[in-house]
Order: sequence, then C-alpha cells, then structure tokens
Amino acid sequence: MTVHMTEQDIQKIIQSVLQNINAQSAPESTEHVAASNSDHSHQTIQPIQMKMAVHQNQGIASSAMTPSSQNTGLAGVFEKMEDAIEAAYLAQREYLKRFQLKEREQIISAIRATVLEHKEQLAKMVYEETKLGRYEDKVAKHELVASKTPGTEDLTTNAFSGDDGLTIVEQAPFGLIGAVTPVTNPTETIINNSIGILASGNAVVLNVHPSSKHSCAFVVDLLNKAIQQAGGPENLITMVKNPTLDTLNVIIESPKVRLLVGTGGPGLVKTLLKSGKKAIGAGAGNPPVIVDETADLEKAAKSIIEGASFDNNLLCIAEKELFVIDSVADDLIFQMLNHGAYMLDGQQLEQLMSFALEENINQEARGCSLDNKREYHVSKEWVGKDATAFLQKLGIQANGDVKLLICEVDFDHPFVQLEQMMPVFPIVRVKDLEQAIDLAVLAEHGNRHTAIMHSRNVDHLTKFARAIETTIFVKNASSLAGVGFGGEGHTTMTIAGPTGEGITSAKTFTRQRRCVLAEGGFRIIG
Ligand code: NAD
Repeated sequence: MTVHMTEQDIQKIIQSVLQNINAQSAPESTEHVAASNSDHSHQTIQPIQMKMAVHQNQGIASSAMTPSSQNTGLAGVFEKMEDAIEAAYLAQREYLKRFQLKEREQIISAIRATVLEHKEQLAKMVYEETKLGRYEDKVAKHELVASKTPGTEDLTTNAFSGDDGLTIVEQAPFGLIGAVTPVTNPTETIINNSIGILASGNAVVLNVHPSSKHSCAFVVDLLNKAIQQAGGPENLITMVKNPTLDTLNVIIESPKVRLLVGTGGPGLVKTLLKSGKKAIGAGAGNPPVIVDETADLEKAAKSIIEGASFDNNLLCIAEKELFVIDSVADDLIFQMLNHGAYMLDGQQLEQLMSFALEENINQEARGCSLDNKREYHVSKEWVGKDATAFLQKLGIQANGDVKLLICEVDFDHPFVQLEQMMPVFPIVRVKDLEQAIDLAVLAEHGNRHTAIMHSRNVDHLTKFARAIETTIFVKNASSLAGVGFGGEGHTTMTIAGPTGEGITSAKTFTRQRRCVLAEGGFRIIG
C-alpha cells in the first residue's frame, strides 16, 4: 500500500508525537525543556536540548538498565566500579549517536564555564583535602585547564583526492576510557582529561587517588551537572566513591573500557602497560635546569624561583635541580636571594633532611624511579609543604614571604636524585657545559619528561635539548611555560612521555579511521 503525505502532514505527526512525549515525561525534564525554550538567551543550545527531550523519553524503557548514582547523592559518583563503568559506557553510546561536534563543543563550553565559576572553591577543597601545595596556585591551575585545554578544534580530518576518488582519515572515539589521576593535580587532571576525552566523543570512568577522592567526587558531580544543563547525557564522567587498586583492576579487566590513561608515578604506568590494553602513560619527571655563562642571570633566577616554588614544587614539570657553570654560580645565587629565595647552610640542610627524607630501609622503589636501591625517599608528610613550614620547623625566622629554599650540594645528594616535590631546591656547581649536560641527563633518570635551560647561546641550547630528549624543553623561561602558562600552546595535565603521546589533548584519545570512496566515486558498474 502506498501512503501519500505532504510536508504539512509529516509536521503534524511530529508535533503530536512530541506532545505525547512531553505529556508523559518526568516533571523536571518537561520544565527543563520549557525553561530553555522560553529563555532566548540560551537559543544557541536549543538543538541539543531538543535531542535530550527525545532521548530522555526514549530512555524510559532503558533507564531501568542504567545504574544510578543516586545512592551517593553525586552525579556520576558510584558505590561500585562495575556500575560506574556501565553507566559511562551507556552514556558514551548515547553521546556518540546523538551529539555532534557542535553540540560536544557546547558541552565543553559549559564545563569551562562551571570550572571558572568554581575555581576558588575547587582550589580550597583540594588544598584542604590533600594538604599539599598553595591555594593561589591551585586557583591558577584550574583557570589554566578551563581556558587552555583544547576542545573539538583539536580534531582534524585528512583527505586524499584524485582520479581514483576520495579517501578521508578521521579521528574517531575509542568509546569508554579509563583514567587514573594523581593527588598532585587531582581535579585539574579530571577537568583536563575530561575536556579532551569528551571533545573526541568518548566517555570516561575514573580511578582517582584515594587521598583526593572527596574533591574529585565534587568536581565529577559539578561537571556532570554542567553537561546535563547544557543538554548532554548523564554519566559521561563517572568514578567510584572509594577508589582502590582493586577498583582499578575492575577498569583494567572490563571489556567495555577500550583505552587506559594514567597520570602518576612509574608504578602506575607499569601497571597500565602490563594490562594488555592500549595505555597512555604520563609518568614522573625530575626536571633539571641548566644555567650557562651567557644567560640573563636575573631573569633566570626569577624564572627558576617561579617554576620551582609554584604549588610548592608539586608539578611534574617543575625545576627539581640546578646545574650552574661555576663562573656565574655566585651571581645567580645572589639574584635568587635578591628575589626572595632563602639559602640553607650545611647544618640547616642536614637538619631538614632528618625530617623531610626517610631512609629506604625496606629497599622499596618509590617516587620518580623504579629503583629500589635508593638510600632515601621523600617523607610524604613534607611533600608539597610551604617553605615557611620548613623554616619554622628549623627554628629560622626569615624576612618576607619565602617561597623557595635553596642549598648548594653535590650531584649525589638525595635532593638532586629524588623527585622531591618540596620547595627545597638543590644547586650543583659544574665546571663547564659538557659536565652540566652529562649530569643533568643522569639526574633526569631517563624519564625524558621536562628540562629547562637559561642561555643566550643557541648552540648550547641545541646541545642540551638533543642530549636530554625530553617531551618538554623550555628555553629562558620557567617550566610553567612548557604547559602554556606564560608560554604559547595549549595546556595539559597529562604529559605522556613513556608512551610517546606527549602533550595530550582531544586527538590523543582518538582512533584513526579511513573512509574510502573509490573508483572515481562516480563510476557506474554495469
Ligand atoms: P602516584 O603514582 O602515587 O599515584 C597516581 C595514581 O596512580 C593514583 O590514582 C594512585 O592511586 C595510582 N597508583 C599508584 N601506584 C600505583 C600502582 N602501582 N598501580 C596502580 N595504580 C597506582 O602519584 P601521585 O603522588 O598521585 O602524583 C605524583 C606523581 O605523578 C609524580 O611522580 C609526578 O611526577 C607524576 N605526575 C606526572 C604527570 C605527567 O603528566 N607526566 C602529571 C602529574 C603527576
């Protein structure tokens, strides 16, 4: 039977279906659609909200299957990892089906806006929960990830065209991604990873560092609510309320998780790389900085203090040890003292080591290396503490707001060899550039993470960059410039050195797919 319908008939049918749908829908969703339709300031996000209206109602049958995070009271936060995985898996299927690039971008704009609005609250929560770093620097980090993490503009399609037709290579999503986050940038990494992961059409399930789980649950709830308010599906970002190594194993073993991303120390990276799944590993660093005899010493001093003291040296990119050519060492140290650093003498340093370091009695590997033969580890109690807290413990009254303690040491000193993550900064004098480079490469321990150099000699800069082969190499600026803070280029909280993706962004979380229109595209066979 053939039915003839006009455009008008079709419109009538659509209208009556939509009316029926609205009549059946839950009060909140009806209000949401009605409010958004009457609010002309939100006209740009109307299409995405229309999709949600249909989706919410189509979801009535399937909602019984979707795990609910209601028992934790926080959107996207689940009691069981299995439920967090299932919910994010279903969310991604829906996201991919119904949300296109423009709509993803609207969701990302909503994430950026909510982070900027809550940046002080987030910084305070993280500071109070982890007791690490500096509040004002955490505000800056939230601002950085909200404004400089790339969105969908990061995705590109390559095309080949010619007599034989057209071939495109597009960046497609993996699906559900499992991400592990560190205590040093907990919410910042979630925001940064989520923007990239969602921009590329994926969803994410998180195993966060247990010492930051409350702040992480808060930000997951905040981001999910912003996504839903922008018309997106629920549970695009999920986590388990109480993360453990067992809950990480559930992620690793779930066939629904197609890619793993880990930001943390070498133990984490090793675990993920052993999983049998594709893994992006962002591991530890121990960034050396070299100052040579041609450098602008005042600028070098200011930059080193800025980078090494930021968030009390917690960042993996932060300057962790300095190699300075002997002929300019005194002048550089003078400039550092002039710009607020405090020099510890031998006795004070020894006293500081007695509480800020722990002997490695059990021959364990910790920190920036898998080497279990190290003599010392850093004491967790003193990681990320203010320079003034160290001074107070040492009984030293210093003038002004000291942000960085400096000390002159030999190359073998634990503060050179360990990733201290404290505002205690070791300085090693060297006789020439060759020695500086040799020692800096050794101190970096092959992490190939970040290195910094202050020099006006291009040959010197090139020589060091080639020898150290780090993912980030910063010239004549603080390490922060390497992640777009006072430097050009986008930011990341996940610098994947070990697995080679480098400064991760949306495109990192994609699979390449080739789509071919062959035979000239038009040839009719027959
Ligand atoms: P961490 O390695 O102790 O923990 C990171 C995450 O991995 C946490 O969620 C933790 O629960 C988990 N984890 C730890 N050991 C594990 C193991 N053996 N198996 C599985 N999971 C494990 O690191 P942290 O103290 O949270 O963060 C600081 C470290 O992270 C530093 O070494 C720093 O250099 C590094 N880091 C690297 C980057 C980067 O982009 N490359 C960024 C931030 C931090």
